[in-house]
Amino acid sequence: MDSPAAAHRDDDLHHDDRDALSVLKKVFGYASFRGPQADIIDHVTQGGDSLVLMPTGGGKSMCYQIPSLLRRGPGIVVSPLIALMQDQVSALKEAGVSAAFLNSSQTAAESAAIERALIAGDIDIAYVAPERLMTGRFLNLLERLQEGPGLALFAIDEAHCVSQWGHDFRPEYIQLSMLHERFPSVPRIALTATADPQTRAEIVERLGLGEARIFVSSFDRPNIRYRIVEKNDARMQLLRFLRNEHPGESGIVYCLSRRKVDETAAWLMSEGITALPYHAGMDSADRAENQARFLREDRIIMVATIAFGMGIDKPDVRFVAHMDLPKSVEAYYQETGRAGRDGEPADAWMVYGLGDVVNHRRMIEQSEAEDQFKRVAGAKLDALLGLCESHTCRRVRLLDYFDEASAPCGNCDVCLEPPEVWDGTDAARKALSCVYRAGQRFGAVHIIDILLGKDSERMQKWGHATLSTFGIGRDIDEKTWRAVFRQLVAQGYLVVDHERYGALQLTETSRAVLKGEQSVMLRKMIESKKSSSKRSSVAAAPLQGEERERWERLRSWRAATAKEHSVPAYVVFHDATLAEIARQCPQSMDALAGVSGVGAAKLERYGEAILKLLGD
Ligand code: ADP
Ligand code: ZN
Repeated sequence: MDSPAAAHRDDDLHHDDRDALSVLKKVFGYASFRGPQADIIDHVTQGGDSLVLMPTGGGKSMCYQIPSLLRRGPGIVVSPLIALMQDQVSALKEAGVSAAFLNSSQTAAESAAIERALIAGDIDIAYVAPERLMTGRFLNLLERLQEGPGLALFAIDEAHCVSQWGHDFRPEYIQLSMLHERFPSVPRIALTATADPQTRAEIVERLGLGEARIFVSSFDRPNIRYRIVEKNDARMQLLRFLRNEHPGESGIVYCLSRRKVDETAAWLMSEGITALPYHAGMDSADRAENQARFLREDRIIMVATIAFGMGIDKPDVRFVAHMDLPKSVEAYYQETGRAGRDGEPADAWMVYGLGDVVNHRRMIEQSEAEDQFKRVAGAKLDALLGLCESHTCRRVRLLDYFDEASAPCGNCDVCLEPPEVWDGTDAARKALSCVYRAGQRFGAVHIIDILLGKDSERMQKWGHATLSTFGIGRDIDEKTWRAVFRQLVAQGYLVVDHERYGALQLTETSRAVLKGEQSVMLRKMIESKKSSSKRSSVAAAPLQGEERERWERLRSWRAATAKEHSVPAYVVFHDATLAEIARQCPQSMDALAGVSGVGAAKLERYGEAILKLLGD
């Protein structure tokens, strides 16, 4: 590891440029602030407390990094994830900022060296694990800093970890309220990408941020294209999606069970696609290695359960594919949100079918939880099913769930290819009465066989070939019937009784349909023609000929450089920056400095090499 004092410190980097915009330009190489960044940075720099709610990829880090550089003394950043700390620090060092982290992965001697560097005023940003922060030793250090070089701010990243109801709860976070009591004059900035109002209120309460200014950004992720397709042959659908739309790109495939993760990863490998498994049942060393490979190498697909999630800070994840339904709209938003942090086009793609609905309802019913919890879980699932079956813009519905109004987006499957909606009242009535006639004791497969009039041993056994509903559904094909049943369950006209092996039963609302008092509108899910066609999403997609060739050379150079410095490739340069260099083919250091993402330190470190590479 670099010793902290030897970190690429460049004194004139910030002491001459005491305004935020020049730091953004000089250090990070970006031309302008995004959304509310400028206001937040201004507020924090002037010493105000704040709570920042911004979606993944919105640019939260800049909101505490720049004030840390502008204010006296180091900024102390509390972050729950060791891997993330390391990558953030590497990225800052690449940008010429003197940064360090303190966590349990270090030896006592390493920590002590960093503590000394802090006291000496040699560090501008320090990342600290929450359990370390609250120790007597560290609090003493903070006091010495306050008396010496100063304390720029406390940043509390992933602030939703303070919420006892969320699944990222960290008990140590609760104690962070103490910071304000001990260091009342040091501004605090809490940040999270969690959108829901309850969590927000909990953060304010538990961290004592009642006086803080709250900055809420739009939670829209416009570069993500949402698509939810009907599950037919999920594996083949996935393979087509990967081959046609994301060849050679990084992405995540989520599955519900560990077994399915292992099987899907193995199967993709057998199809020649580099896919690694990740789930909580794996040996922890294997898991860590797979995660490290995913973060560091290009072109790797991670097949994972939701154990793979928080802190996946890789900006160039080009797609998130769901092989199974998540458990709520919040979960769907969070999981899909791991795609496209760099702002380049990305896909959120999901296959979904009747089995998903049945499975989830069963998991809720059979859980040990209390009734009230089951009701909440059921309502959350219903909201997600509403999104899946939506005939209006998916983004509008998604944002509406977080109380954000918006207009149809033009970048989801519903907007791109509006689904046909058909009057399914007649079909629904046939389906419901067939369920009723068969005694509400059978699952969808058998009921569909009755509707289609499939005579079989099973029909004979139950005497169902003589039912009045036998064969009344021959006007509709089997696949459509499956979609009808899925939607009837999703819309609450049928419930699944798991005590009785998944038997379908009528509900109060289905009576109104049977009596002809209510009509049922259904949506035709078509496996899309347009959106399954090739759509390249990488920043480099439009590059051709010479530009393309330069891009490939730059990419190999980046891979080698990243390996040499043992940092992820994106820490050297993002795809978008590399693509821009390939496009512009700058011939001088000045021209190269003009490319977005090329800051002063990177220019100095890599400029010559790049110009040479372009000149060859
Ligand atoms: P978050 O923590 O909110 O998910 P990050 O802080 O990781 O987001 O920022 C996401 C990406 O956007 C990073 O690659 C970052 O360098 C880039 N970024 C942040 N602010 C700007 C800006 N003003 N202009 C251009 N790119 C930016
Ligand atoms: Zn839309």
